[in-house]
Amino acid sequence: MNPDDIPTEITALTYTAPFATAGLPILSQNDTAKMLAHYWPAIERHVREQDGAFATIRRLVDWLDHANGTGEAETAMRLLKLTEEVGEVSQAYIGFVGQNPRKGQTHTRNDVADELCDVIVTALVALHAFTDDAEQHFAGKLQHIADRVLTAGEGRHAECTEPHPGVDGYTDCDGQPL
Ligand SMILES: [Mg+2]
Repeated sequence: MNPDDIPTEITALTYTAPFATAGLPILSQNDTAKMLAHYWPAIERHVREQDGAFATIRRLVDWLDHANGTGEAETAMRLLKLTEEVGEVSQAYIGFVGQNPRKGQTHTRNDVADELCDVIVTALVALHAFTDDAEQHFAGKLQHIADRVLTAGEGRHAECTEPHPGVDGYTDCDGQPL
């Protein structure tokens, strides 16, 4: 975070009110911006961790860490859990379409959706073992995928070597047919 990117409405508030009321020396607005810029990533992360789906996932991770401990064996179990949940998606889908004539339709569309959610949650829990900021990592990866796919044919991508799906088959980054 660049100090110049901190909105002046914020620095104007912080460089006067809290310091003055606490009897502390008042920082210049410029110094306040520098201080906030320094702590901004931590502040942003703290705010994110208080709310939202990833905050709930973080609490699940903490609960699991407390109950099972941490380490390579536990990480491996959380990855194994992922394959279990993927299997349950297959089970629910097979039951939804009634693929087994003996059993008929045993699951609903909603069951399949529930099992897919289990996969997502389990993957997000496991993700915490491989990054210090799961939410940011996920957002970055999602953006990367979107950049590769959604902008296909809209111009050249730096460092991109993959073919893009186009209307008439795959194209390179310049939109030329492959
Ligand atoms: Mg499940």
